[in-house]
Amino acid sequence: MNPRTPKSAPAMASPTRPDNYVLVVFGATGDLAKRKLLPGLFRLAAGGLLPKQYRIIGSAPRQFSLSDSDFKKHAKDAVEEFGGITPTPEAWQNFEAALSFASADPDDTAPLLAAVDLAEKEIGSKPRRLFHLAVPPAAFRSMVELLGASKLNVGSRIIIEKPFGTDLASAVALNKTVHSVFDESQVFRIDHFLGKESVDNILALRFANQLFEPVWNRDHISHVQIDVPETLSIEGRANFYDATGAFRDMVVTHLFQVLGVIAMEPPSKLTAEALRNEEVKVFDALVSINPKHVVRGQYEGYLQEDGVAPNSTTETMVAVEAKIDNWRWSGVPFYLRSGKSLGANRQVVTLGFRQPCLKMFAIDRESKGSGSGGEIVIDFGDPGSITSNFLAKEPGPVMRLGRASMVFEYQNSFNAANELEGYEHLILEAMLGDQSLFTRADGIERLWEVSAPLIENPPPVEPYARGTWGPDSINRLIAPHAWHLPET
Ligand code: NAP
Repeated sequence: MNPRTPKSAPAMASPTRPDNYVLVVFGATGDLAKRKLLPGLFRLAAGGLLPKQYRIIGSAPRQFSLSDSDFKKHAKDAVEEFGGITPTPEAWQNFEAALSFASADPDDTAPLLAAVDLAEKEIGSKPRRLFHLAVPPAAFRSMVELLGASKLNVGSRIIIEKPFGTDLASAVALNKTVHSVFDESQVFRIDHFLGKESVDNILALRFANQLFEPVWNRDHISHVQIDVPETLSIEGRANFYDATGAFRDMVVTHLFQVLGVIAMEPPSKLTAEALRNEEVKVFDALVSINPKHVVRGQYEGYLQEDGVAPNSTTETMVAVEAKIDNWRWSGVPFYLRSGKSLGANRQVVTLGFRQPCLKMFAIDRESKGSGSGGEIVIDFGDPGSITSNFLAKEPGPVMRLGRASMVFEYQNSFNAANELEGYEHLILEAMLGDQSLFTRADGIERLWEVSAPLIENPPPVEPYARGTWGPDSINRLIAPHAWHLPET
């Protein structure tokens, strides 16, 4: 993700403000809470986007319990380090007055129950409750059961972090546990890519304009790329990464979700139900991944990283050809690539257009790009941009074509101060009860189902040098097209 420039708190774009809330962050001492949740909650509060009355209870297992004052200090450090904003004394005092800490363990829920009770009494007249499970996936189940056993589930909402399962069987089992305690309408499975302004903007681009949607189909598009390379290596997260790999970590969660937004049919209206129905229809039409159309790479030196198994075959990058068997996309391959220690940090969707049916012009190789009939490039890294690449006549006496582009850049076009970071956006939507940007049980299960052939029978990993774009076979995978990245 691109570094965010320091900015002020986001301004309130709509008068909708959530009802009064008690928010419990399980895993409040963890990395996600420090880097995203606590800074995000402060920015929402400073921007006037949190409810009029709210309390935030940090929670962790008993052995890691903090005092209220230690938690407040932890939160302030997190906001200063990761919030891109220096709190004014007044804004900080208001925010920290809402913070407290309570431990929670399956065999001892008393401290949490007492903290929630106190927070509710302080706010008065029955505030809503939201629980955010920012804990390791192995703890999702026990946290859900704890909420059920203590009756805190009643009338509450719950945000569940990714990854939701590691294969079809585990996702089905986790959904079963969740549904034994919560109704689906209470559940918000988070994928922070869906909280990005620029991913939302794909919906606006497609469905608020008559320009693009008529060509957004197999008649005009030759192929689609969803490319999310990262320069970071596994950065000391071997325990998690070696058991997970690039496919589970990035493709099943983030990249397939972006595919859902790119490929969906126009929803009949902008409601959570209509949007998620269309997204799940895309997932239903996905053809099971063929391992022969997948490249798994492992960066050189991975096996020497601390904590990695000496003979690990975990992939640190993956490129997948996905197919959608429906009227709009039949015959159009979708290429999904992501991984560690690659050549750049980018988040890019490219739609390559077919060549015009009448070849009036000689097109030299240089002017081809990844779509020789032009391309639409959606950069959904924050703050994001949309570029249309096409061919134009170069000035001069001969009819010679050169590459030209039209660019829309978010940061130069609107008031960037109103931008919400993915987590800020999603926490706000969960408080408002809008599930549009959250994955549904059947959708996530279907994604694991189409992934099963690859998970069960993965091709061998191929080495690649750090800082490159993966093993050479990624180019054979996408041929006769070419990867849009790196941009030359
Ligand atoms: P983390 O740094 O390991 O922190 C996890 C938190 O959960 C800590 O507060 C930890 O307490 C607590 N915890 C550990 N075991 C627990 C258990 N059995 N029961 C209850 N609480 C327990 O992990 P993280 O990076 O914050 O990730 C948390 C979740 O967010 C994961 O599901 C992850 O996949 C997801 N996520 C993280 C990121 C990210 O950037 N970090 C991004 C996207 C999604 P102690 O600190 O006291 O051990």
